[in-house]
Amino acid sequence: MIPLLSHRDDTILVVGLGKSGLSAARALTQAGATVMVWDDQADEREKAQASGLTLFDFESGDMTTLDDVIWSPGVPHKHPTRHPLAEKARSANLNLRCDIDLLATAQSEATYIGITGTNGKSTTTALTAHILKSAGKRIEVGGNLGFTALDLEPLDANGIYVLELSSYQTELTPSLACSTAALTNVSPDHLDRHGGLGGYITAKAQLFDNQKNGATAIIGQDDDPSRSITNQLSIGGQHYVIGISSEESMIDGVSVQGGILTDTLSAKPGTIDLRAFKALPGKHNWQNAATACAIAITHGVSRQEVSDSFATFPGLSHRQEVVGTLNGVTFVNDSKATNANASEKALSCYGAIYWIAGGVSKAGGITNLGPLFGRIKHAFLIGESANTFAEELSRSGVATSTHKTLEGATIDAGRLALLSRDHDATVLLSPACASFDMFKNFEERGDAFRNTVTEAWPEVAA
Ligand code: ADP
Repeated sequence: MIPLLSHRDDTILVVGLGKSGLSAARALTQAGATVMVWDDQADEREKAQASGLTLFDFESGDMTTLDDVIWSPGVPHKHPTRHPLAEKARSANLNLRCDIDLLATAQSEATYIGITGTNGKSTTTALTAHILKSAGKRIEVGGNLGFTALDLEPLDANGIYVLELSSYQTELTPSLACSTAALTNVSPDHLDRHGGLGGYITAKAQLFDNQKNGATAIIGQDDDPSRSITNQLSIGGQHYVIGISSEESMIDGVSVQGGILTDTLSAKPGTIDLRAFKALPGKHNWQNAATACAIAITHGVSRQEVSDSFATFPGLSHRQEVVGTLNGVTFVNDSKATNANASEKALSCYGAIYWIAGGVSKAGGITNLGPLFGRIKHAFLIGESANTFAEELSRSGVATSTHKTLEGATIDAGRLALLSRDHDATVLLSPACASFDMFKNFEERGDAFRNTVTEAWPEVAA
């Protein structure tokens, strides 16, 4: 846990009692601060009170006596509606900041690497941490991924915090000055929460705005919003800007074409063949790999060390996670794909696909996956969207079946794939849907798939 001793005499309100709010309340209480808490959910407030925390008086609590407000990133404060406590805080001249900002102020000697983007944040963060660790660096990894900021270990001037940051977090971390900040890509997301695309881009760009003169900005060049952030920074002239692309070559940066990564940052430019790395399939992962490579090289790691670490990267669970292979059939758990855009990435990577999909569909369903339907040998459909997806796929000539449970769909998909004479068949769970009609979350759904596969076919080898 991060010691927050400088807050010993402070009175602090923590808003939002999820993972990061509770961790902030714990660390501040431990430091000796007077902590008050609030959550919009009555049951969370009851739990907090039962655990000994003091509730803030929502109606008439006086904010002028507070030293700080720690705001949980998950709690909307400006959009779609203004939160009354955020308004009160602003009137009392208190800036909202989150647990990551407390880390940045408490551990100011350490180096910070911040990674954001609409997609690929977790993979890039985990991969960066894996490379730096393998190269012998003292690192702590967390933020939006794994451990929350204040549950990390303290680091001295030789240590590096590798932080995954969502847009909800970047807009609440005014003190975080990353020596290297990276943006994988930007596409419209969380627009209601940021008041539109402009607000979303501004939140992401905050990570770069907070950097000191001469700091490194690593930015994907394959979408318009990211290119426009790059242009702004280049005009400002205060950042060392490195471009990343999985589309075209980069003069000062890292690019990937046809699976071959080209690094022009090292003293001697050179390449890495990414096609051999099992945990980094597809163009989207090549963008993540190029970003992690650029970060690592900027922090003194050689290209050879980067390449060796790509080979040993285990990948992240539920993101095209290879459960194992049996008689040429590979079982892949991509439960994190909760919308069609994410499933598109996985479907693009494989040939003969036995596709398990369905759940709570997003607007637009699977219509934009039409160009990939030809790769699907059979679709095994589950959940709320099963019948609609079946109709749409059948219209395109794809064989379908509907199933009451994920377990049933997995067994049938595995059996059919194993019976097929397809070369390199893939049983792919990539639902293109949220999971909450059948599961608590995507992790539970992915675990159910993995368990079914390993129980039904114990000889499956990873
Ligand atoms: P995030 O943390 O930003 O949600 P993850 O690394 O967890 O991203 O990946 C989640 C899903 O997003 C993956 O399963 C894949 O479908 C997709 N994805 C990953 N990286 C990228 C990328 N660079 N560009 C587009 N989509 C990606």
